Order: sequence, then structure tokens, then C-alpha cells
Amino acid sequence: MRGSHKIARIAGIDVKVHWTFLIILGWFFFSYYRETSNIESGLYGIGFVLAVFICVLAHEYGHALVARRFGIRTRDITLLPIGGLASLERIPEKPKEELIVALAGPAVNVAIAIVVYIYLAATGQLVNLVNYTETISSLDPIYFAENIFAVNLILVVFNLIPAFPMDGGRVLRALLAMRWDRAKATRFAAGIGRTLAVGFVFMGFFGNFWMVFIGLFIYLGATAESRQVLTKSILEGYLVEDVLMTQYTPLYVHEPLQRAVDLLLSSQEKEFLVLDLEDIVVGVLTRESLVQALSTGEPNMRVKDAALATPLELHKQMPLQEAFELMMGARATVCPVYDGQHLAGMLNQENVQEFLLLRGKDARDDAEDIYDGSEELEPKGDAWATR
Ligand SMILES: [Zn+2]
Repeated sequence: MRGSHKIARIAGIDVKVHWTFLIILGWFFFSYYRETSNIESGLYGIGFVLAVFICVLAHEYGHALVARRFGIRTRDITLLPIGGLASLERIPEKPKEELIVALAGPAVNVAIAIVVYIYLAATGQLVNLVNYTETISSLDPIYFAENIFAVNLILVVFNLIPAFPMDGGRVLRALLAMRWDRAKATRFAAGIGRTLAVGFVFMGFFGNFWMVFIGLFIYLGATAESRQVLTKSILEGYLVEDVLMTQYTPLYVHEPLQRAVDLLLSSQEKEFLVLDLEDIVVGVLTRESLVQALSTGEPNMRVKDAALATPLELHKQMPLQEAFELMMGARATVCPVYDGQHLAGMLNQENVQEFLLLRGKDARDDAEDIYDGSEELEPKGDAWATR
């Protein structure tokens, strides 16, 4: 996510913090400081926020590490003011796996709450827990452990609200998908998610303004993900060769860059395969990489100066769905396609989108929903979010 900075790498996963997170720290500092007018309680406020976000981070790691057991990697975990976000490479498709991954996050908070509870019991502080509301609203440092306990309970309850794509919504989708097909289960869960999201926004206007953001997040998330599932169901059953582009102009590494400019202006082509003298694909050239190279203002540039290394090689017989997912995952706009060892053509995102637009029309009639071909498909980034 733009504006995020890596602060650590734990268990092979980058931990990032969005800069707006600093606003929360500042806000807590001042609200604690205002109460007592001393710097120490301001710092305590910061300490408390950090402790809460460690709990959120642990929750995200719950999802990420369990997903890893099912062979799913996590690109990174980002901390935002409204919570955490684990970017899983993909969402497990087997309902049982999705169910387990979804429950793993809240389970971590249950575990933390139990540990804190044992600590409170062992130190004889349990009496304070009798009055939760007082505990949560009290800024007094002596209630630190009680507050952490309460925060973890809230994290569990809130994330289990069945508002897809929050954890509870995923649990719901997974349970439905055990009986229905996945597209139908997603549509249903997303519908409930959107309805609850509207409720959150509405409640937000009359109470906690935070709820407005959370409602919007859920609404957009539910829409994006149900579209993604529909996209996949449209591509199912097709192969890369069904949408393969065979009419294209290759560029050679040594050619002047001006040739790419001429082609871009005189034809419909926006992305090119870059070949070496032995006709082997060594990279791709996109409109963006071309513009970027030209902006350096250097004269006599060659195609190789603007070419990007090709991150992916696709095969003709590959399922289209898989190829599309790989392209989205690698953020590749164009890829060479091979037939065995031979170059068979290329595939670009625009291609697939046109295909979706045409096929989507039929699917939309069935599904009466979701995929609007006029909108750009979002790069696939599966968010596993915690508020
Ligand atoms: Zn979660």
C-alpha cells in the first residue's frame, strides 16, 4: 500500500506501517496528556497504542502462519490506523482451509486474553474486571493489563461480526461454500457484508465516526472480492491459448527506442516483447517503462534501455484462471506465452479483460451482479483485515 514503510521482517514476512498510524500515536499522546498534564501519561498513551497494535499484529500473524501451513504465502502485513492488513498471496479455496485461516486470527486474541487473565488472577487484580466499562474508559496506567484484556476481547467479538470480508464474514462464506458453490456463497456473504457495512456507516454518523471508515472498508472489500470470485468463475474452463495474441510486433534489444515510440503512436499496441538476436525473449516493454525511459531525456536510447525483465513465462496449455492470477500477483501487464520451448505469442491484461467483458455479459445475466467490464480490474491483493 502506498505510504507504508517497512519496519521489520518477522518469520519471513515484512511488517509495514502506514504513515497515518503516526496520527493515532499523536492523538493518544495528547488525549492522555490532556487528562493529567504530564508527559509521562502521554508516553503511557503511546505505550498503550503500541501494545494494542502488537495484539493486532499477532492476530495477523495468526492468519499468515496458518495460511503458510496450507502453502499460501503472505506478501506483507501492514498496520493502519483502522487495524491490520495481511496481504495473502491468495485466499484458500477449500472452505475448510478458509475457515481455519479465518479463525486463526481471533484465536490468537483469545490466547492473549487468557494469558492476561491468568496474570490478573495470579496477581489478585481480577476484582477490577468486574466493571469492564470503567476499566476500558480509564486511562490510569494501573489498568494497563485490564485494558489489554478488554481490547483483545473486543478484537475477537468485532472481527467475528459476519461482515465479509472481515473474519466473521469469511467464516460465513466458508460455511456456506461447504453446501453451495463458491460464487454463490461469496455473493450471499458479500450481500450480508454490504448490508452490515451500510449499518456501520449509518451508526458512525450518530456515534463513533470510526465506524464510517470501517463501514466503507467493508463495503469496498465485499464488492472487490465478490467481483474477483466472479472473474475466476468466468475464466474457469479456458486455457491461455483461447485468448493468446499471435499478431504482435516484437522489438529487438538493439533497436532504437524511437521504433517503440513510432509503433505506440501508429498502432494499437501498447506492450511489446523484447527479443535478443537469437529471438529469445529477454524482457518486455510497456508504455509506462517507455515513458519513464524517455523522461530521462537521454538521446540515442535503445530498446534494451527501456525494457523490463520479464517476471513470468506462461504456457499455452495453462488454465487461463491460473495465468491471470499469476499475472495479477506479479503485477505483470504482459507476458510471453510458450508452446513447449517455442514462443507462441503473448498475453496481456487488456486481452483478458476484453475476454471477461465478453464472457462476463453472459455470466452477469446469470449472476445479475458484480462484474462491470468497464471498470479496471484491481490487482489481486487479498486483504485479511483486522480492525
Ligand atoms: Zn483477522
